[in-house]
Amino acid sequence: MSGDPRPGGGLRARILLAHLTVIAVAVGTLFLATLVIAPTLFERAMGGMMGPGSGMGGGMMTGLQAQVDDAFRGAMFQALLISAGAGSIAAVAVSLFVAGRILTPLRRLLGASRRIAAGHYAERVPADATGELGALAGQFNQMAEALDAAEQRRVALIGDVTHELRTPLATIEGYAEGLLDGVVAPGPETWALLRDEAARLRRLVADLQELSRAEAHQLPLHIAPADPAALAAQATARLAPQFAEKGVALSAEVPPGLPRVLADPDRILQVLVNLLGNALRYTPAGGRVCLAVARAPGAVAFHVRDSGIGIAPEHLAHVFERFYRVDKARSRALGGSGIGLTIAQALVEAHGGRLWAESPGPGQGAVFSFTLPVAA
Ligand code: ADP
Repeated sequence: MSGDPRPGGGLRARILLAHLTVIAVAVGTLFLATLVIAPTLFERAMGGMMGPGSGMGGGMMTGLQAQVDDAFRGAMFQALLISAGAGSIAAVAVSLFVAGRILTPLRRLLGASRRIAAGHYAERVPADATGELGALAGQFNQMAEALDAAEQRRVALIGDVTHELRTPLATIEGYAEGLLDGVVAPGPETWALLRDEAARLRRLVADLQELSRAEAHQLPLHIAPADPAALAAQATARLAPQFAEKGVALSAEVPPGLPRVLADPDRILQVLVNLLGNALRYTPAGGRVCLAVARAPGAVAFHVRDSGIGIAPEHLAHVFERFYRVDKARSRALGGSGIGLTIAQALVEAHGGRLWAESPGPGQGAVFSFTLPVAA
């Protein structure tokens, strides 16, 4: 890399220079102060000792005083030189120590960031330094963790998507080859099957696009106070024909006087349609589905209750995971992509709410609930 920072050379020289400058200024000031002030003070003291009352002759005294003066100046100068030398050595030692304390963590950060840039996302630095350098190392590790998690999600997503695409593509390919070889008879049933597989692929691509935008928090939300009763009425009205067609009873329980909620009506309708659609999909004919809306602390809760196939406890926590299906073949046969609940959860959480599932067990129905914060 061209403009590569080299914390070794540059920073160490600068720290040393800073220490030496401080020492030079200190020694210069000391020299100046000592050479100007000390002789005056010394002379005054000597004058007191050898003055007229001291009993010494005038000529002898002046000569002696001059010699003592010179000796004092010389000794003082030497002492200052020695202390300047000692100070400079101390400055070099201290600056080497300080530079080491700063440079070691910086070097580690530099090395780790280079390795992360090269794709080694598991890289971390020891966060044992104190103060700002320790905080920087901690922050760096957090950033590395986020990158690592994003990378793992990316790899997992590619694996999942590849897996999901394989089945419909293999079916389409198999039928196309069968048609070409004359093994499969061309007829309405074959065309319908090919159309269904293509539709599954299109749905999967649309869901994936929606999911990636929701997970990256890039779905534009137009949140405003909304009437929960109106949202519930719209959702049930939209799905009523499909419920009637399958022979599943759909009802709504919406008490009067519910407060308005903070919601993007289109997105919340999407969540409700998804939950009601699942309830319909996993409830056999003759069953019941109820959408109940109720007041909760600081929020309004929506519950979609069905009398369908239910969910075993070991699957409950996983149904919101991408591509997780309790019964893969069944869900696929019913047209599910396995991402609906993941998108619904991302949407509800983007509203500041929570989405969860409950079920007494297989064959005993399920309840999917979510909350939306009350508008102030
Ligand atoms: P799918 O498109 O497969 O329905 P979802 O993400 O909507 O994907 O749901 C994930 C899985 O959760 C489903 O495959 C199904 O096994 C389970 N599930 C969702 N809703 C219900 C429900 N109301 N009753 C029973 N199982 C459900």
